[in-house]
Amino acid sequence: MIGQGLLPVVFPPDADERLSSWIARMAPFYAMTVPEFLAELGLFGRDVFDLEWRLSEGEGAQIEARTGLSPRVVQGMTFGELIPKARMMILRNRYHCPMCPVDVQSKSAALPWAFRCPVHGSDYQDTTGEALPAVLGAKRMATAEAPAKVGAAVLDAWVQGLGQGDLGPVEILALLTTRHRRASPPSLSEQPRMSLQTRRDFHEFLTTPIIRQALTVVVPEYDEAAPVLTKPVRPGLFGLAQGSLLQALALTVGIGRVVENPVDQAISILLKSDVDGQMRVRDALATWPLSLRRRISARLWRAQRDERERQSAAKPRKRRQSNEFRRVQSHEYRSRIS
Ligand SMILES: [Zn+2]
Repeated sequence: MIGQGLLPVVFPPDADERLSSWIARMAPFYAMTVPEFLAELGLFGRDVFDLEWRLSEGEGAQIEARTGLSPRVVQGMTFGELIPKARMMILRNRYHCPMCPVDVQSKSAALPWAFRCPVHGSDYQDTTGEALPAVLGAKRMATAEAPAKVGAAVLDAWVQGLGQGDLGPVEILALLTTRHRRASPPSLSEQPRMSLQTRRDFHEFLTTPIIRQALTVVVPEYDEAAPVLTKPVRPGLFGLAQGSLLQALALTVGIGRVVENPVDQAISILLKSDVDGQMRVRDALATWPLSLRRRISARLWRAQRDERERQSAAKPRKRRQSNEFRRVQSHEYRSRIS
């Protein structure tokens, strides 16, 4: 049909609709595939996701000439305002609002730290149809709400290049996904209740070492709710870009909590780390601003001393108890032989 001039029918883009979504709706109306429809617009051989990411003025003008849409509307469907590093964050159809039309994909649902539809206020669902409140439970959802908002605001500012200060999502995600303890098999609280026979059958599951990350210290709600085998998240930005809905929420909450209390959170991670893990945590903290690192060192020294004092205060009592126990034993022994 390749022609000139305006197409006879043009769907107006939905509020907040992505270019890829709008083109995917238009193409079938003209009984075309997406590449065929792009060629019709004069964009032969172009990838729709590339165009949606960055649309040059010339490419925009091609679309405007055939559709009659304004440059503002056409550019408004792209991610042109986001920093280059944000591209890996753009999801393709991963989250969905149950009330939005099935064929419309919104720009806001494309960022992994948006958990509710801005139009309907309903919780996004993942591809299996599951939503966060069902996975996490109402109580944990309530404690996650405020820090998730803080984390999402930090991430929104970052993708728009507005991040202020030296402590941004990149540095925080590196810390959250650090292995602070060595990998270990599922703990008792992480195992489902099972009979002795089932335990034998699931020997492999019970002995599988699970990667342990600082995220579980900062977001204990995630530690409790996440299925043990899928608890580990990918390192750094990938954890957020490629993780599940639950993992994305946990990381967003983690970012919110670290931004609000960076020193406290870093210390609680260090106190719960093993020797090798502490070194990895320190490596992750090395990218943090010097002023924060100084405060962490000063406070950590005191926190470790307090911890040692607490332990040595607890020890003599233990020793006394065991002495008493021994005395009782020897007494019984003597009384038995006499
Ligand atoms: Zn919606």
